Amino acid sequence: MARPATLHDYVVTSRPQHPSEGSERRQPTVAVARAARLLATAGIESPRVEAELLAAHVLGVPRGRLALADRLSPDQLERYDALVARRVAREPLQHLTGKAAFRHLELAVGPGVFVPRPETELLAGWGVDQARLRACDPTAGGGQGATGGPLVVDLCSGSGAIALAVAQEAPAARVVAVERSPAALAWLRRNAADRAAAGDRPVEVVAADVTDPGLLGELVGRVDVLLCNPPYVPRAVQVPPEVAAHDPDEAVFGGADGLDVIRPVLARAAQLLRPGGVLGVEHDDTHGAAVPALLAADGRYEEIVEHRDLAGRPRFATARRRSPASCRTPGAAGGSGPVGPVHAEDTDRAGAWQTGSS
Ligand code: GLN
Repeated sequence: MARPATLHDYVVTSRPQHPSEGSERRQPTVAVARAARLLATAGIESPRVEAELLAAHVLGVPRGRLALADRLSPDQLERYDALVARRVAREPLQHLTGKAAFRHLELAVGPGVFVPRPETELLAGWGVDQARLRACDPTAGGGQGATGGPLVVDLCSGSGAIALAVAQEAPAARVVAVERSPAALAWLRRNAADRAAAGDRPVEVVAADVTDPGLLGELVGRVDVLLCNPPYVPRAVQVPPEVAAHDPDEAVFGGADGLDVIRPVLARAAQLLRPGGVLGVEHDDTHGAAVPALLAADGRYEEIVEHRDLAGRPRFATARRRSPASCRTPGAAGGSGPVGPVHAEDTDRAGAWQTGSS
């Protein structure tokens, strides 16, 4: 006696196969190998990984389960071929899947918002550590109440990657995310709502231009950790087709020298940060000297440190907002105004104290 037909039988048998489409191509391994060859020919750097990620996306399985996945249905194979063709035309992988991995997050991305980059995970991680260090500091957040936790600001937030990573990994922090582009704000709000629904402390989204001298006026002198991945690529630099055609220009390019946004951000950050508050700014890999020099020239920063990424390229600079009191030197008048470059004795004193106390 014949068994009753299942949906599976129906789907498979009701759709005639194209004669050229041997069922072999519906094996994920075969489809992936072919796609990887096409992507390699198109100049994609990690063709195999991307072919697998697209197949996993179409099949609705994690990439690690691909080897165990069923054959692609004719529909899935058609969708896979279409996605591979778009990737060959250099549409960003993250636009094709609609998501970008960033630390422990999966962010929704697409046209109108900058796709977060793996190297920015380092700055976000530094920000997480800084926020955690201040989690129990009753004076954090400008002393506006111990319950507020450290106040963390993410400027040029884009999809919300840095802000949402801090909110997830340093749950004591109050996080404010600033973005000016209406298109990017829509993605940011969506990601922020998704993370809040998932149980993270909600991030506050502010629509503003970070070069506005009055930015976040109510937070002046209160910010514990200020993070920023600004547009910083010098205008004349040739960027890959994915970036040129799909990342918003205003999120990538920072004027002729790439520092057009960084300069006002450093100036405003010195006003927003509380004494002892810290700043982390990502920059172009050609600015490993220029950004620390701008921080030193400002006079309101100390402990200026340049950080490299895993490939050894200068990637972000960090600094601490001087406290006016610590700037006072015996015999000097006043001490509340900006002071000169970092003094080595600041570090020496800290070292001496540690030695003496142990
Ligand atoms: N590093 C980025 C890129 O490769 C640029 C990032 C930025 O301007 N914030 O395109």
